[in-house]
Amino acid sequence: MFMGERLAVRQERAELALEIGRKICGRCGEAKELEAFRPRKDSLDGRRGLCRVCEKAKATEPEPEDRERFARWQKREADFDLLVEKMRRELVRSGIVED
Ligand SMILES: [Zn+2]
Repeated sequence: MFMGERLAVRQERAELALEIGRKICGRCGEAKELEAFRPRKDSLDGRRGLCRVCEKAKATEPEPEDRERFARWQKREADFDLLVEKMRRELVRSGIVED
């Protein structure tokens, strides 16, 4: 697809969104009121591509492809915490630091 065609499709979609006052969220796929999308100045329809609910969810939940990586990261964090706690106990036991 040419860039021009893609832009035309996007423009058509934006015009439709403004006309019917709704647009389809790029994440949950639901057709929601424009107010459900946060404003975005440089967007054709003046709104972001994801609804507010999805933007919030995206900020707190990892994407499916990131989930495994996130789980590994969490495990490393937990291991690190355990290591820190173990070291701290060692230091307390040898009297280097106070509990
Ligand atoms: Zn959504």
